Amino acid sequence: MRTRDAWRRELLLLAAAAVLLFAVGLLSGRPLLFLLIGSIVLLARHLYRLWRVTRWLEQPKHHPAPGASGVWQPLIREIRTLRARGRKRKRKLSRMLAGFQESTGALPDATVVLDDQGRVEWWNRAARGLLGLERKRSRGRRIDTVIGDPVFRDYLASTDYDRPLKIPSPMDPSVSLEVRIVPYGKGKRLLQARDITRLQQLETVRRDFVANVSHEIRTPLTVIRGYLETMEQAGDADLARWEPAIGQMLQQSRRMQQIVEDLLLLSRVESGDEAAVQEEVDVPAMLQRLVTAARELSGGRHRIEPVLDGRLRLHGNAAELESAFSNLVFNAIRYTPDGGNIRLRWWLGEEGGPCFEVRDDGIGIDPEHLPRLTERFYRVDVGRSRSSGGTGLGLAIVKHVVSRHQGNLRIESEPGRGSTFTCCFPGQRMC
Ligand code: ADP
Repeated sequence: MRTRDAWRRELLLLAAAAVLLFAVGLLSGRPLLFLLIGSIVLLARHLYRLWRVTRWLEQPKHHPAPGASGVWQPLIREIRTLRARGRKRKRKLSRMLAGFQESTGALPDATVVLDDQGRVEWWNRAARGLLGLERKRSRGRRIDTVIGDPVFRDYLASTDYDRPLKIPSPMDPSVSLEVRIVPYGKGKRLLQARDITRLQQLETVRRDFVANVSHEIRTPLTVIRGYLETMEQAGDADLARWEPAIGQMLQQSRRMQQIVEDLLLLSRVESGDEAAVQEEVDVPAMLQRLVTAARELSGGRHRIEPVLDGRLRLHGNAAELESAFSNLVFNAIRYTPDGGNIRLRWWLGEEGGPCFEVRDDGIGIDPEHLPRLTERFYRVDVGRSRSSGGTGLGLAIVKHVVSRHQGNLRIESEPGRGSTFTCCFPGQRMC
């Protein structure tokens, strides 16, 4: 029955009952009393219905739906429809959730949902093998008690998750994990961990291969170069017509030797781990020596001005730092036309750590090249780089050396105006 019909019927019945009661009341001489009794009975009936409906709403499993008549009929029908719709939506959501859990469960990467306190809320199957989360027992555990690595604790607390973190698996230290954290919702975080053991092994194989090849080439190259130098210096009449060829061979063998040396150095510093030797490096003295070497290389064609804080020393690897700093200084000379200015600066940076900066007013670099400049063998102008004795590996070495000292390299440049290369190190490295 439609709502409007139900109400019409109810009102008709009410009116009929009132008229009837009033008539019977008139006959017995007490019409108002009869009307009052009728009203109380009606109220009691509706209250009883309301009680039954409330009981059914609260505990639908224990109490049957009340039989409906009159105005209660459309109301109960509506409640039933709403309930059925709610149940259907819940079933659909459960199915979706189960599907989502099944798909993330099948992922080979560990996925863990963390609450706003960093406690484990949910995890997939891979997280059991990679992180050691157990079926039920791990729910509510803080993730930094599951992954106890201090580097991970710092990473979790830092809230700077732009870069992923590499750590050993808490289940097996020979397994390397790349961990990434993605914040979402209100303080929640999603942790993903990927097994990169194989990738790292391949990277090691590649690095070792480059290092081995370079090492193997080094000796024959030294021999060839030695003979070529002897031939060049001999001034033998028989060799006179070969002189240009010998000169070129000598030049190319020197270039190859430089590449081999740079490749060997790069494969050493590419590992990312800290260098074995860590000492107090007298950077101002090192830079003074570098200025002398730079002036020699420049041959008076540039004005080289050092501004050095003589007291500032750095805890690190002297040999590596010297290669990095000299690469920057020699680049400035090679890419600055005659008469240009080069300034070397070593000072305590605004962020509390020591910084080294090389500024030149040379040819500068187009902005499109800046992001790729520190890649191996990346050159803006291959011809210019080669003719000035470049290997294309210098800035790759600089980047790795700086990051091995937990520093960062900033490059600013404008074509035709010059470039500034700045390496800043953390305050803890100061001594
Ligand atoms: P290269 O041995 O070719 O100099 P680097 O890795 O040291 O290799 O530098 C990469 C490229 O960056 C260079 O080929 C050059 O084009 C550019 N570059 C480096 N330093 C400077 C600079 N101070 N001014 C202009 N360009 C530079």
